[in-house]
Amino acid sequence: MQSDLIVIAMGGNAFLKKGEPDDISTQWRNVKKSVKGLADLIEKGYSLVITHGNGPQVGKILEWVSKQEDFILPIDIAVAMTQGWLGYMIEISLKNELIKRGLNKEVVCIVNNILVDKSDEAFIKPSKPIGSYYSKEEAKKLTEKFGWVMSRDVRGGYRRVVPSPEPMDNLEISSIKHLVDNGYIVIACGGGGIPIIKNEEYKGVDAVIDKDLASSLLASRIGAKYLMILTDVEGIYRNYGKENMELIKEIHVSDLEKLYSYGEFPPGSMGPKVLACIKFLKNGGERAMIGHLEDASEILRGKKGTQIYK
Ligand code: ADP
Ligand code: MG
Repeated sequence: MQSDLIVIAMGGNAFLKKGEPDDISTQWRNVKKSVKGLADLIEKGYSLVITHGNGPQVGKILEWVSKQEDFILPIDIAVAMTQGWLGYMIEISLKNELIKRGLNKEVVCIVNNILVDKSDEAFIKPSKPIGSYYSKEEAKKLTEKFGWVMSRDVRGGYRRVVPSPEPMDNLEISSIKHLVDNGYIVIACGGGGIPIIKNEEYKGVDAVIDKDLASSLLASRIGAKYLMILTDVEGIYRNYGKENMELIKEIHVSDLEKLYSYGEFPPGSMGPKVLACIKFLKNGGERAMIGHLEDASEILRGKKGTQIYK
């Protein structure tokens, strides 16, 4: 019998908290802590598919490569590299945690490709900043040399911006389902997945896919009961950052949709999480949750985080 299936999306803070040094030992320490909550759910008998962000790591790879003369690393390759890097870290940390608890479960990470539409508007208007900050002069040189689109960042300096198209399909859906059905814990959709377009053949493109939207699509396609998005805040707040901010403990999807349409949630952070939950519930999901990385078990029990009902 298939146990209840949860797709859990881990935010970038599972590996690095804001302002921490980005060395590997810090990342290991964070991942080891982050997987405890996942192990709690596995111990309770839930099936899991784990997805994760890759912002700082993909930025790091692109920064290293930008220092090389005449070596261009396409973004699809950089995303694939982070799927291995972070997938490996989650896999080993979770395996160790399960062994400690006497649980004999295999954890497997897959290289996961996500189909995007080549006529997606995002390709005409790249908007997602990635990698390092450059001066105006450096930015101009990079555009001349590599054809990069550079844009002024609100935090000062110039950054490369790339398209962030909508995920349309997940190429490994039946493999993921097969693995889950056979009792494996699966890590998929790392960094939102490798962006692929299809002409006569499949081909990777220079873009990044939002990990929350990719996780939502994955959750719907494998028929998950729950989507849980874990990040560095307690849940969705109303009036976030203001004096009167207030945690939304539970909300009906139609009310959340209204707030979303009023522009209550910013596009780069809480916006895609909220949209991911709305889409999941409209596509047959039973409950979506947003909450803090360390609270997975309590969030599922409805004790913490934001619960979104259909
Ligand atoms: P992740 O790496 O987990 O995807 P993000 O930085 O993309 O994390 O999104 C989480 C951030 O969203 C929080 O740290 C918070 O600053 C921001 N945020 C913006 N609006 C809200 C809101 N209404 N409620 C909660 N958090 C919000
Ligand atoms: Mg994010």
